[in-house]
Amino acid sequence: MNTGLVKDPRYLEHICGKFHPESPARLQHIYSMLPSIDSEGITYIKARYASHEELSRIHDMAYIEFIARTQGTYASLDPDTGACPKTYEAALLAAGGCMGLADSIMSAEVSNGFALIRPPGHHAERSRSMGFCVFNNIAVAARYLQDRWGLERILIVDFDLHHGNGTQKSFYSDPSVLYFSTHQFPYYPGTGWYEEIGVGAGKGYTVNVPLSYDMNDDDYVFAFKEILVPIARLYKPDIVLVSAGFDIYCNDPLGGMSVTEGGFSELTRMILTIAGDCCASRALFALEGGYDPPGLARSVKAVITAMKGCPEFNYEKKRGPSGGITGLVNDIKKVLSPYWGSF
Ligand SMILES: [Zn+2]
Repeated sequence: MNTGLVKDPRYLEHICGKFHPESPARLQHIYSMLPSIDSEGITYIKARYASHEELSRIHDMAYIEFIARTQGTYASLDPDTGACPKTYEAALLAAGGCMGLADSIMSAEVSNGFALIRPPGHHAERSRSMGFCVFNNIAVAARYLQDRWGLERILIVDFDLHHGNGTQKSFYSDPSVLYFSTHQFPYYPGTGWYEEIGVGAGKGYTVNVPLSYDMNDDDYVFAFKEILVPIARLYKPDIVLVSAGFDIYCNDPLGGMSVTEGGFSELTRMILTIAGDCCASRALFALEGGYDPPGLARSVKAVITAMKGCPEFNYEKKRGPSGGITGLVNDIKKVLSPYWGSF
């Protein structure tokens, strides 16, 4: 197993705002942690720029040009999202970093990989920055994999604390991309109820698991085991893309979840098992949220060491799934059964 890591100092030059939680310190902590991982089997991949044409598969050209005009200036893109003179460049490199990693995976140079990028992407919509996100990195990578590599079915797993409204909207009527998200609900951005399952031909290909406050490792493992794994096996994706958000970490200042390093290790193992069974282990992780920089770095280490097949953190079952989640899982299965049968 070879694991690709996208790392580039230019991601550190994007400043969202003074005292903003989406700060360069997040990646600084991750990049300083990387030498503590055994470098055997790790390939570093330099980021490349996304082209406007590549971004336009997900975003309106007028929006891309608007972001381009912020280069060299300070601008407010959304109440939560600021641009500095270097934001445009970092945003092009974030989407481009994911596509470069996708190429490395598809050409079998690496089997899986993690794009350690910022700004994050999953809230960004067709013509709108939102929630610290500028371009929707994972959505752009999904369309790129279809156009450049001819993939027919792409699974996106999003375990960020927040619902990926931008990703959901990008593929809401499209069965060629299955979007699965676990997220705190009700919470920002307000979307992601379990009855949101797609429209038209896309019905059944959006799967939302809206979780209440304080879910822990056991709850996430349960949701993955009961919902994600069976649907993924029926869908048989050609690659698994992951919006990896670590604001579900137990010490995160923005989140109300209690996931630990061991939990991230187990969720990664489950995702990689799907990839191993369905698509020659092809799995691409991209960084989304996570606002406790030291905890973020340890959580990313848990994911990378699990990807390398030598996990540094182990999952230990604690209390088992909470009562709330077992009821929710049954409701979700009921809503999705017309599309996936009883699973
Ligand atoms: Zn988030």
